[in-house]
This record gives sequence, C-alpha cells and structure tokens, in this order.
Amino acid sequence: MFKCHICSSEESRIEYVTEIFKIDGKFHLVENILATVCSRCGEEIFSREATESIRSMLHGKPEPIKSISVDVFSYQPESKVA
Ligand SMILES: [Zn+2]
Repeated sequence: MFKCHICSSEESRIEYVTEIFKIDGKFHLVENILATVCSRCGEEIFSREATESIRSMLHGKPEPIKSISVDVFSYQPESKVA
C-alpha cells in the first residue's frame, strides 16, 4: 500500500513523468517514466526496477532521441546576496 514518505498521504496516482539523472557528472533527462505520484504533495516515487533499468540504460550510453538546452540557476539565500 502506498504511503508518501514526505507527507504521509495514502492517496496516489500513476503518471508518466520526466526525471533528470546525473551520471558521471553529466545530466540525462528521461521522459515517460511510469511513476507513482503522491496526490497531495506531488512527490514522485519510482519503483526499484524502474530506477535500476534506467540507470543501466544510461550507463549503456544510449543515443538520445533529442537534445534540449536548459537554463541553470544556483539558489542563493537572500541574506548572502546583500
Ligand atoms: Zn506526499
């Protein structure tokens, strides 16, 4: 039975989600991963099988289906900026 480890909600839904995996310092964005998503807080939970198969797929250096450019920001607390 599902129980969210963030908010303890017991309601979830199954969705296809997009997740970024960092392997060997390189980011890999993987689409269409079947995940259990918490109905309350949106936490995405992947099965151990899904995580393992994605990681082994990425370690096999697959050809990406497309490339996207991503703007990267670094969070800085306001107190440090001032
Ligand atoms: Zn939750």
